[in-house]
Amino acid sequence: MNVSIIAVGTELLFGQVVNTNAAFLSEKLNHMGFNVMYHHVVGDNPRRLEQTLRAALEETDIVLLTGGLGPTQDDLTKETVAKVFGSELYLDESCLAELKAIFETRHRKMAENNVKQAYIPSGATIFHNKSGTAPAFAIEKDGKYAICFPGPPREMKWVYEHCAKDYLEGLMHKRMYYKVIRTIGIGESDMEMVLMPLIDGQTDPTIATYAKEGECSLRVASQRATIEEAKAAVDEMIGKIDALIGKYIYSYDDEELKEVVVHLLTDKKLTLTSAESCTGGMFAAAITDVAGASEVYKRGAVVYSAEAKIDMLGVDPALVECVGVVDPEVARQMAEGAARTSGADIAVAVTGFAGPSADEGFEPGTAYIGFAYHDRSGVIRVMGGRPDRKWNRNNFVLWMLRTVYNLAVENEDFFARYEFVENRDGHA
Ligand code: ATP
Ligand code: MG
Repeated sequence: MNVSIIAVGTELLFGQVVNTNAAFLSEKLNHMGFNVMYHHVVGDNPRRLEQTLRAALEETDIVLLTGGLGPTQDDLTKETVAKVFGSELYLDESCLAELKAIFETRHRKMAENNVKQAYIPSGATIFHNKSGTAPAFAIEKDGKYAICFPGPPREMKWVYEHCAKDYLEGLMHKRMYYKVIRTIGIGESDMEMVLMPLIDGQTDPTIATYAKEGECSLRVASQRATIEEAKAAVDEMIGKIDALIGKYIYSYDDEELKEVVVHLLTDKKLTLTSAESCTGGMFAAAITDVAGASEVYKRGAVVYSAEAKIDMLGVDPALVECVGVVDPEVARQMAEGAARTSGADIAVAVTGFAGPSADEGFEPGTAYIGFAYHDRSGVIRVMGGRPDRKWNRNNFVLWMLRTVYNLAVENEDFFARYEFVENRDGHA
C-alpha cells in the first residue's frame, strides 16, 4: 500500500524545526512493507492543508499527518481531516474524561480551549494518547485512510508504538520480510550489472542497491501472505545473489564492517593492533565501539609526528629523513613496528594527508595503509582527490577495516592484488 506523510506546521517551513517526524514514520513504514511515496510539509493554513490532503489521498492509500492536533487556534488538522472525510467533529466523552483527569493529576485548571482537544471526527478510531493531551485518531473512507499524530516527536512516537503500529499492521494484507546484505570491494554500478539478470523484471522479491560511505548494500525484500513464505522467497534469492557476488559479501544481516571484523577476529582467536597518524585514533575508536572488542584489541598507538613514528614504532629515521612520513615503506614499517611492540597477530597502520588542501605534492586524501600479519607485511595506497578532511579520515578508517577484514578471511584476491612480502630485517 502506498503512503504519504504530511507534516503540518509553519515552524517547519521556516526551518526552525527539522521534520524528524516524517523521517521516523517513513523508516517504520518502510520496514513494515508500505511504500512511502511522498513527504509533504505544509504551514498552519487550512486551505493549503486541505489541498495537500486531497492531493495526497488521490495519489496514495494512506496519509499520515503529524502536528496541529493541539488546543490552539492554529491547530487545524482535525477540522480539515473531518471536512475532507465528510465527517463532523463531536465531543467525545471518553477523551474529555481523560483530559480532565490529566489536568487533575497536574493540579491545573483546564483552560476553555483545551476542551477542543476532546473533539473527534465521527467514525474515527481514537488512539488515546497517554504521553500528552491531544488524542490521535485514524479515519477511513472509500478505502482511503488518514492517521493523525500529535506534532511533538515524543508523543508522535508514543502513539505510533502503542496504537498506530497495530492499526497499520491490520491494514497490511501482506507480510514483509527483508534482509540487507553488505559488500565491500565492488561498486554499485558493477554490482547492478552483475545482478541485472536477477533484478530485471523481478517484482517479488525486490532487490535494491544502496551505495553508502564507500560501501555498497543490497536490500532483498519480499511481501507474501505469510512471513514464512516471504522469508523462503528472500532466502532463495539470497542464494542466487551469493552465487554471483558471494566473495564481496561481508554481512547477510546488515552488520557494520567494524562489528564483523571484531566478531571474525574473536572467532579466529586473532588479536589486532593499530598505529595511526592522520586518523588520530579514529580506527581505535571504531573497533572499541563494538562490544567485546577487548577480546581482540589490546592496544594501539597514535603516532602523529615523525618522532613518534620513530620512537614508538621503530620506523627508520634515515628513511623518514629521505622520503618524509607519507610513504609506503614508512606505512609498512609502522605496521611491522606495531605488530612487534604489541605482539598482536594483525597490525594495521595509516600515514597520509587528510587535507583539506594538497600537501607536499600529494592530493588530499592520499594515504598508505600498512599491514602486518604474522611474519608478513604489505601496503595499500589510498587514492586522494577530495578536499574534505572529515570524509578522508573516515575513508582511511574504512580502508583499515577492509584491510583487517581481508587479512582475517585470508582473501586470496587481496593477497594477490597488494604487494605482500616477508617482514624485512634491518629496521627492527
Ligand atoms: P501541541 O499540543 O503541542 O500544540 P500539536 O499536535 O498541535 O501539539 P504542533 O503544534 O504542530 O503539534 O507541534 C508541536 C511541536 O512539535 C512543534 O513546536 C515542534 O517542536 C514539534 N514538531 C511538530 N511537527 C514536527 C515534525 N514534523 N518533526 C519534528 N518535530 C515536530
Ligand atoms: Mg500545536
